[in-house]
Amino acid sequence: MTVTVDAQTELDRTRFFIDGEWVEPRGTDTHRAIEAATGEPLGTAAMGTDADVDAAVGAARNALDNGPWGDTTPAERAEVMRRFAERLAARGESTARLVSRENGMPITLSNPFNGAAPAGLLQMYADLITTTALEEVRPSQMGSTIVRREPVGVVGGITPWNYPQVLAMMKIAPAMAAGCTVVLKPSPETALDSYVMGDAASEAGVPPGVLNIVLAGREAGSALVSHPGVDKIAFTGSTEAGRVIGAECGRLIRRVTLELGGKSAALFLDDGDVQTFMTGLAGTTFMNNSQTCTTQARILVARSRYEEVVEALAEYTRNLVVGDPLDERTQIGPMASERQLTRVLGYIDVGRDSGARLVSGGGRPKDLDRGWFVEPTVFADVDNSDRLAREEVFGPVLAVMPFDTDDQAVAIANDSNYGLGGSVFTADEERGIGIARRIRTGTIGVNYYALDLGAPFGGMKDSGLGRELGPEALNSYLEYKSIYASADRL
Ligand code: NAD
Repeated sequence: MTVTVDAQTELDRTRFFIDGEWVEPRGTDTHRAIEAATGEPLGTAAMGTDADVDAAVGAARNALDNGPWGDTTPAERAEVMRRFAERLAARGESTARLVSRENGMPITLSNPFNGAAPAGLLQMYADLITTTALEEVRPSQMGSTIVRREPVGVVGGITPWNYPQVLAMMKIAPAMAAGCTVVLKPSPETALDSYVMGDAASEAGVPPGVLNIVLAGREAGSALVSHPGVDKIAFTGSTEAGRVIGAECGRLIRRVTLELGGKSAALFLDDGDVQTFMTGLAGTTFMNNSQTCTTQARILVARSRYEEVVEALAEYTRNLVVGDPLDERTQIGPMASERQLTRVLGYIDVGRDSGARLVSGGGRPKDLDRGWFVEPTVFADVDNSDRLAREEVFGPVLAVMPFDTDDQAVAIANDSNYGLGGSVFTADEERGIGIARRIRTGTIGVNYYALDLGAPFGGMKDSGLGRELGPEALNSYLEYKSIYASADRL
């Protein structure tokens, strides 16, 4: 198999989007973006320093405190957001392709997640803010109390590389709707696509300073987290980085939401349908080449069906189409980076060393000699105490294990530091929902797993703090204020 990709075009992004302008970096650092499917250079981006972050925060602060954004009505903000959505949607297809080239996401997934969803989120929160009461008057012992919700202030958004567009917009859209301003710091692995948001915002007439974008690494990212001009940090990324960021926000008494890692379980009960389970794997386990925080890489199977499911998994994974992420037939693209490939291959070694039974995959595909490809790999007879069952691989390496009773299945699923996704496959939906209620996780599906943008999303335990999406996300960009007033207002 060979990988054919778009003709090499240097996609350079040498300036930052600050205060509505494309500005020169204060420093000289650059980052070379690499195409995941080929390992070839894709473009160059400027890397921000503390001084660039400072300028971006200054612009965001100014737009909120002195600029027009702080005084806008919800209807005015909604109008700006709808124009922004239109300009983003117009670029949807090319943005989706660009992200696929950066991180290897199959185009059939990139189109909805990077192409369409960001504009959809802007529209959703624009609608929501115009129908949400931000102020109410309640009777009090002394008279009345005006209970209001005000924007939390300047938001620092820090995002990872796996779903760069939608994860950024899951922060920007509710923040803008609430009346906040934003500094976005995307991940260097997806250095190029985030600036499409700057292009669209600029064209849509989003007022200067409302959205600022500065690509940076960890150091300048830390400068954003601890900047005195920032009121809230909205972070998506690894649990390891989340702990550091959360600790700093704790020290500063700064608002923070943390969307972190996972090691979720898919449960196949004794009455489950194998075909439904296999079809569901695209959403439960292999979405975005398993580089998804909700990836259900622990597969728990009722012992009476165990060998049947292990065999079906081996067959299914052997037949997955691994290849060019821009080809619509591709089911599994490359890992996002060489570092990520090395990590995933390392976990395959961990599986081998643990004595688990390798039933499919186990290395790099022989016919793909460039790019960061790895074979979908299944280990059976994994023990839930093994590293392969406890640590987040963030790649297509499955750990399959049997259980004897529903109670035991729930206990194994809950025996994890994480709690982000999950699924239950059963012929009896009520039984599945009953089990879903007992699993300590932020989201879980019965007979499928698919994100619902209208419902809260986030993690329990080490998978995070707070929720994104749904009307609930709006709350995390608003602060309550109680004004004690006279009874005349009632
Ligand atoms: P990462 O934590 O290495 O980096 C994420 C972002 O944080 C990047 O922009 C990075 O530059 C920045 N960063 C890292 N350390 C920082 C620090 N100390 N201060 C400020 N910024 C810092 O994660 P990654 O490798 O880019 O992404 C993969 C991880 O993200 C996985 O663990 C995955 O589960 C998680 N993730 C979670 C969700 C969710 O919603 N829960 C969604 C997608 C990915």
